[in-house]
Amino acid sequence: MQGVANYVGGRWVPLDAPDVTPVVDPATNEVLATVPSDGSEGVAEAAAAAARAFPGWRAVPAGDRIQYLFRFKQLLEEEFDGISRLISRENGKTCAEAAGELRRGIENVEVACGIPTMMQGYNLEDIARGIDETMNRAPLGVVGVITPFNFPVMIPLWFLPYAIACGNTVVIKPSEKVPLSIRKVVEVLERTGLPEGVVNLAHGGRAAADALIEHPEVRAISFVGSSPVARHVYASAARHGKRVQCQGGAKNHVVVMPDADLETTTQIVTDSAFGCAGQRCLAVSTVVTVGDAHRSFMDAIVEAAGSLRVGRGLSKDVQMGPVITAESRSRIEGAIARGAVEGAEAVLDGRGIRVDGYPNGNFVGPTVLDRVDGGGFLGTTEVFGPVLGVTPVSSLQDAIDVIARSPFGNASSIFTTSGASARKFRTEVPTGNVGINIGVAAPMAYFPFSGWKDSFFGVMHGQGRDAVEFYTDKKVVIERWPQEWSRRF
Ligand code: NAD
Repeated sequence: MQGVANYVGGRWVPLDAPDVTPVVDPATNEVLATVPSDGSEGVAEAAAAAARAFPGWRAVPAGDRIQYLFRFKQLLEEEFDGISRLISRENGKTCAEAAGELRRGIENVEVACGIPTMMQGYNLEDIARGIDETMNRAPLGVVGVITPFNFPVMIPLWFLPYAIACGNTVVIKPSEKVPLSIRKVVEVLERTGLPEGVVNLAHGGRAAADALIEHPEVRAISFVGSSPVARHVYASAARHGKRVQCQGGAKNHVVVMPDADLETTTQIVTDSAFGCAGQRCLAVSTVVTVGDAHRSFMDAIVEAAGSLRVGRGLSKDVQMGPVITAESRSRIEGAIARGAVEGAEAVLDGRGIRVDGYPNGNFVGPTVLDRVDGGGFLGTTEVFGPVLGVTPVSSLQDAIDVIARSPFGNASSIFTTSGASARKFRTEVPTGNVGINIGVAAPMAYFPFSGWKDSFFGVMHGQGRDAVEFYTDKKVVIERWPQEWSRRF
């Protein structure tokens, strides 16, 4: 069992809660650690520490603040393999996927090192004769970050580097399912010499999240998780007068046109649907085949998905790991059953899969369901597992219409060799991240992680310029300094 501790005001505080939630290895269901089921007291201490640290931290020049981030990046590189293995252990994803996650997280540290430029305001001399106007950006104060289980390190890093580079102090409330790798990341951050209280870590469940949202010292909330919780966090934070950005769930579609390159398309869609066992907010969940694409794509995807090696993420050569909990496995298997009741055909059925050496793991094999009703339960509900539905339609317009009816708008992609089809899709599809011959349209750190409809609540997205906008207040200064006053001396 590993110890989970809060990090408050520069000190590690061991946790000794009466009610705890077990943290399990998804491949074995062995208990790795426990976290407090509540955790609200720890959040209050962390928010108070962050509030105490704020005046000192905001007075540190931006150019000096980013020196900590340069050191952070260097130390993350040095600890890269160890952190990746921890991610794999507690989340279940493969080591290669964990390494990919960490790499994308580090990119955000790199981009936030540009804050002295990104945070600049603007000005105009002589808005009236002898009067100048300037817009400066100021940090907000304490920022709360609430994150999900599926990217234990990358998602906290979507927010933390920008928030502190802008001069804010931070409280992170990670998912109670994956507290270990973020602990390691905060230990690494501590080694940069970051002043105490600038970054704080407080573990717990929904009570801890609510305590953070409601805390009077917290000015802004960055949240990532499922849409029902995102909706709750958005409403509650607004009710408590907080600035808030909430990234929610997803149901992503890929359109396969008859002119698509079948080999490339199949390879990319296989990775997109089954990578991280489908537990990615950018995973493709439904393929909409247009016309003749259906038959050839079905044959190819069933063969590719059926040949994936499923096993423990930490094991060599494994291509797909388990899902996070036994409850997730039951929920996913239930969704497959419901799809079948709605008339879909399970051409590849991953229910009941056995993995040698791991009889207790939460494994679901790659599953492909044909003729999924785009408007039914399986067509509209986020499954968040290795389940790919296929919905055949007869035209690109029909495909766009299927996507438009989804309550979610996180991402969609098209596979085609036609520029005209690509352009129509890009222009008309109502999702915030769009891929053209790309399976996982994950924006680089210097672009916003977009997302529309029930996949995002707020205005400013995570990453890049949006992050700077979100984590700063604008202060406008209008000045008059008449020449005749200087003649008095
Ligand atoms: P979740 O919504 O269950 O939990 C997310 C966080 O909210 C956790 O820290 C959890 O402790 C907290 N929480 C849970 N219930 C709460 C409640 N009632 N009140 C307050 N806080 C609460 O999400 P999860 O299962 O950890 O993560 C998977 C979900 O996250 C999926 O829906 C996935 O699509 C989504 N996700 C979205 C993005 C994106 O960028 N849009 C990225 C990653 C994951």
